Amino acid sequence: MKASQFFISTLKEAPADAEVVSHKLMMRAGMIKRLGAGIYNYMPMGLRVIRKVEAIIREEMNRAGAVELLMPVVQPAELWQETGRFDKMGPELLRVKDRHDRDFIIQPTSEEVITDIARQELRSYKQLPKNFYHIQTKFRDERRPRFGIMRGREFTMKDAYSFDRDVASAGRSYENMYGAYCKIFDRLGLQYRAVAADTGAIGGDRSHEFQVIADTGEDAIVYCPSSDFAANIELAEAVALLDARGTAAQALVKTPTPGKATCEDVAALLGLPLTQTVKSLVLATDELDEQGVIVKSTVWLLLVRGDHELNEVKAGKVEGLKGGFRFASVAEIDDHFGCKPGYLGPIGLKKPVKIVADRTVAQMSDFVCGANEADFHYTGANWARDLPEPDLVADIRNVVVGDPSPDGKGVLAIQRGIEVGHVFYLGTKYSAAMNANFLDENGKPQPMEMGCYGIGVTRILGAAIEQNHDARGIIWPDAIAPFTVVLCPIGMDRSEEVKLAAERLHDELQALGVDVLLDDRGERPGAMFADWELVGVPHRVVLSDRGLKEGQVEYQGRRDAEATKLALAEVLAHLK
Ligand code: ATP
Ligand code: MG
Ligand code: MG
Ligand code: MG
Repeated sequence: MKASQFFISTLKEAPADAEVVSHKLMMRAGMIKRLGAGIYNYMPMGLRVIRKVEAIIREEMNRAGAVELLMPVVQPAELWQETGRFDKMGPELLRVKDRHDRDFIIQPTSEEVITDIARQELRSYKQLPKNFYHIQTKFRDERRPRFGIMRGREFTMKDAYSFDRDVASAGRSYENMYGAYCKIFDRLGLQYRAVAADTGAIGGDRSHEFQVIADTGEDAIVYCPSSDFAANIELAEAVALLDARGTAAQALVKTPTPGKATCEDVAALLGLPLTQTVKSLVLATDELDEQGVIVKSTVWLLLVRGDHELNEVKAGKVEGLKGGFRFASVAEIDDHFGCKPGYLGPIGLKKPVKIVADRTVAQMSDFVCGANEADFHYTGANWARDLPEPDLVADIRNVVVGDPSPDGKGVLAIQRGIEVGHVFYLGTKYSAAMNANFLDENGKPQPMEMGCYGIGVTRILGAAIEQNHDARGIIWPDAIAPFTVVLCPIGMDRSEEVKLAAERLHDELQALGVDVLLDDRGERPGAMFADWELVGVPHRVVLSDRGLKEGQVEYQGRRDAEATKLALAEVLAHLK
């Protein structure tokens, strides 16, 4: 590739809205271009990286036996109504109408569509197991799109879905994907950790996130440096909370938006065992400011013995409501129950739960709490039975650091991470809701056991840069660099010899399958070098009249402090 034919557009300064280094460098290197909040053009330089990431993912998915297909971005609402997600999902789900006033969604993920395919196509146990995947555009109307394409609204995801005949086989599919993910992230050249994560309404221990270690990560991981224990902090909090009394952590779950579901709906969604006599739920919402700091926590406490609608819970001071109450602040709850300050909150997103055992709470049975934002809820704990002593959980996050690891093999530490992949055992949640059955050996219909497996293709670019950069720019791992080698001829317009040598080297490298770019733009050396250091091409070869007279070029790896002389004849062997 010749630079004059390609498109290169670098900037000296990053735009003011770019907060983290990856966003700044991607903008400056001309990899992406903003179109709207969380919506970006993938420019030619960035697209080359995306395509390389996709190619590695595709190779490893195929190798693992997954089959590629492509599902639509725009999906009819009917399927999403079958599972209830059309109503239950919050504003992250983008709903649109067509000219006939029919409802559609822009896919944030594709469980419904793949389950619809499976129920039509996978009829017999003989066709199982099957794993389908696609690499497709997603849309999630994120409350806070930021960090460029790391938390975009439109982004590219690889999502795979496995179908198995029973739990044991689904476990093997899960392990298979877990292994494939390790290979993918190894090949991408990322430093990552697989951590135990939220299993939501499904329960069990089959959910792992693949977290790229980076200080700017939005997730916090608690891990034990001397063992394999690693978990997303929210899960770790729950583990610590419940393990204190020897109870396994139940789950962190999504709650629907208040106003849409009955208490029973919520309980069913959460897999929460409401007892006959006591039906109680606690839900909380946090309002965050621009910095992500909780400015207001609102907690709904519902002691329900009927089908009271959550949407009847109104704003205001403590209000009695068919056995339910709403509180404007955490302090009000404490006040109402006559508890110590900090009794019930702040609960929610990335925040430690402060719960102190108390007689009032001890009278309740099961409970759920968390932010009314996807992913961060504790469920199924029995306050009377499971809660550790008050001071133990005064601030779980502080308690966790330096504490014994749950596996007893060392002490715990915390680091930040970027979630780049997620493997998840779904069980029969979707197959049961959508009647996706196969016939077993006895001709009996059985719901398929499912798993889903996502990788944030575009997020990987940001994550890779967070880990690999310096003051001059990006340092791409070789496997995903937009170009592997850049040839920088000096005085190409003046010297026929430089021109010929550069072109010959370019052609030879290309013939060897090396992804090479010849910078024939005629830029001054300083500007030329600055561009390629910013863009992050891992290998650079400089050709000049002076060097060529001695049969030499200058080679510099992007991480090298200085260039080294290399015989022209050795360049190919060195770079291939
Ligand atoms: P997050 O916790 O960061 O919001 P998620 O848990 O909601 O992510 P999943 O539903 O597990 O995301 O989707 C699979 C993968 O898609 C994630 O592991 C992540 O790499 C990627 N992803 C999710 N949301 C975004 C986004 N807004 N922008 C870019 N990539 C995303
Ligand atoms: Mg999310
Ligand atoms: Mg997540
Ligand atoms: Mg996830």
